[in-house]
Amino acid sequence: MDESRRTLLRGAAYVSALGLPPFVKAALNPDPAKSTARVTPFPLEAVRLRPSPYLTAVESNGVYLLRLEPDRLLHNFRVSAGLPTKGAVYGGWESESLAGHSLGHYLSACSLMFAQTGEAQYRQRVDYIVAELAQCQSAHGDGYVAGFTRKRGDVMEDGKAIFPEIAKGDIRSFPFALNGAWSPLYTLHKLFAGLLDAHEYCGNATALKVAEGLGRYLDGVFSKLSDEQMQQMMACEYGGLNESFLQLYERNTDARWLAIARRIYDHKVLDPLARQSDELVGLHSNTQVPKIIGIARLHELTREAPYGTAARFFWQTVTQNHSYVIGGNADRESFEAPLSKYVTEQTCEACNTYNMLKLTRHLYQWQPDAAYFDYYERAHLNHILAQHDPDTGMFAYMMPLMTGARREFSTPFDDFWCCVGTGMESHSKHGDSIYWKRRDQLFVNLYIPSELTWKEQGATLAMRTDYPFAGDVIFETTQLEQPRTFAVAFRIPGWCESAGLMVNGRPATTHRQGGYSTVRRRWVAGDRVELKLAMGLRAEPIRDDADLVALMYGSMVMAADLGSASDPFEGAAPALVGATAADAVGSIGKSMNTGSASRPMNLQLKPFFSQYDRRSAVYFPRLTEGEWQAQQSALKAEQARVADLEARSVDVLRLGEKQSEHDHVLKEGKSETVLYRGRTGRWARNGTSFEFRMRSSNEPLALQATYWGKQRNSRFKIFVDGLQVAAESMDGGGPITFVVRNYRLPHEVTKGKPFVVVRFEPEVNAGAGPVFGCLMCPVETVTVTT
Ligand SMILES: [Zn+2]
Repeated sequence: MDESRRTLLRGAAYVSALGLPPFVKAALNPDPAKSTARVTPFPLEAVRLRPSPYLTAVESNGVYLLRLEPDRLLHNFRVSAGLPTKGAVYGGWESESLAGHSLGHYLSACSLMFAQTGEAQYRQRVDYIVAELAQCQSAHGDGYVAGFTRKRGDVMEDGKAIFPEIAKGDIRSFPFALNGAWSPLYTLHKLFAGLLDAHEYCGNATALKVAEGLGRYLDGVFSKLSDEQMQQMMACEYGGLNESFLQLYERNTDARWLAIARRIYDHKVLDPLARQSDELVGLHSNTQVPKIIGIARLHELTREAPYGTAARFFWQTVTQNHSYVIGGNADRESFEAPLSKYVTEQTCEACNTYNMLKLTRHLYQWQPDAAYFDYYERAHLNHILAQHDPDTGMFAYMMPLMTGARREFSTPFDDFWCCVGTGMESHSKHGDSIYWKRRDQLFVNLYIPSELTWKEQGATLAMRTDYPFAGDVIFETTQLEQPRTFAVAFRIPGWCESAGLMVNGRPATTHRQGGYSTVRRRWVAGDRVELKLAMGLRAEPIRDDADLVALMYGSMVMAADLGSASDPFEGAAPALVGATAADAVGSIGKSMNTGSASRPMNLQLKPFFSQYDRRSAVYFPRLTEGEWQAQQSALKAEQARVADLEARSVDVLRLGEKQSEHDHVLKEGKSETVLYRGRTGRWARNGTSFEFRMRSSNEPLALQATYWGKQRNSRFKIFVDGLQVAAESMDGGGPITFVVRNYRLPHEVTKGKPFVVVRFEPEVNAGAGPVFGCLMCPVETVTVTT
């Protein structure tokens, strides 16, 4: 780092002690699991939301939940049980082998929504679905109930067929396929979670019975497997199935459930975490987070230290090393490093954050340090709220952080992605985790307008605020049966440099500890607390690059608004330019207008979460004027070089672009288009392939293909007019850039032909490509690779 950069950092409005986001410090504290008096969240039914973007999200989500028809979500469950169906199956993933996962999420969402709003219509739906599931289970007669399927060729069969095979030791396990079904144990975890939520939030006793019946069925399968076979099976995503068995154990203390939960332990991923070794890069994030939630619960129930160590280390590693400024993690669903090189259009799957918030709640219970809620608030506000468009009630899967990218939202009845499922739940429970308690102490962790009923104290408390847009919070004891002495601890966010607290208009005596400012006094009805959290704009560097910054106002990520999502963004990615970062940020100030601090244009900063239908810029390179000019010249030179090569080529194909593929008579097979960092391409999964026509000529030619250097599990052959001309193998070892390969073609294959057919074909259990473009060029215009 040169001297000017160091000055930039020192001058930044925000510098954390370790160069890490402030929420990390909690994880560095010693063993929290020893505390006997746990802090616990208030139940959802004790919290009612008042107008804010959070209440709007709950209301919008409620409209969507009521548009969905339980009989359609139950379709595959009835088919599986041999019962006549009452509604057509939904589209998207519900028509795929993963079918049934949405019903589990829906049961959870309606249960949470009942607890959050008290509206009986949600409980009625829960009761109806549980009764239907009980009927399906009884028709099966052996405890089984599920809706997932298995594809055999083009025929869908009931997924139950996999279990007799597995019980016999016939286990075919891949990351997302178990004996040919798409993540079936993941789907069963969602069903368990739905049933257990119906029991917990709606008091539906049948739901627990159905869950126990299904648990016994799975026990019958798992008990026939050796520990080695269990490990083999768990190579396929299994969600938080361990947690489900622990929840059964908590509810009736039958030791068999605990024994099963202990066996659902993926040594390959969890052992390194217990050793505090970060081996997460390349792993699929949402396959792992639910396992860790189960491990955290296992630690709570058994008090065995390695489980707690693994859970804490995972949380610490993910929040420190793998999280972006919005609190989300992973690119293209997998953990990657260094983070600054993975700011793309496929960052931050919503499910990952939904699960990280659950994990954070566990760790906070072990040690109520406010820093956990600094992370929680960041992710809840800037990612979860961003993934749900309140105008349409639809959900985003990824939260793209690449400059100029836009969010892609679900459709009501034809997607049913995983993130639609977790989204239905997330936006049913925004009252969750605002308030916590320990004996006579109340913890206020999130500043969300709401009313709390604290039964033990005979108190009703209300919070009014425009937070996160402003830092003033008013907290009142609206009702109190009689004067009571208790403590109220207000979280002071890590970024907040000064906080004032007044009670009934006078400065209050407070106690500062663990990130809280606590007032202990004798309260009477009508007491009023005014909390003032000083807010300002600050720059926060990404984990590994001090010169790539995001801008924050308090807890809110501020992004540049680059225009409507329906218009393409084709300009240069903006940068902050100035002598120091403090200059740049300081000149933006309250106007939220970058003015002369940005290139190539003035930028209007707006809360990122609410840019539902906009194109945004979240991260900005920090450059000097000279660096900005040099960067622009280099970009222009590269564009000119590519244009020159294309002009001298015999043919140019842009894979993934409709017109270009059509012009080249593409036969796509079952291959798919992809978008990597603004470039379209085409990818053939295992068992598929694609081919297209390229112009030829009499001179000796080379075929140029462009790939992604870090591509994993891609092994394939290239044929030209039926002759193999190359074989490629890529497994994450290349550079973090696009790479080109130039293959010299045997002259006799191309000579004298107007066209040749180029075919990409994957090896068994691998993919081909993605290929981002192909050129047919005179061999002397390129450097031949092979
Ligand atoms: Zn998801």
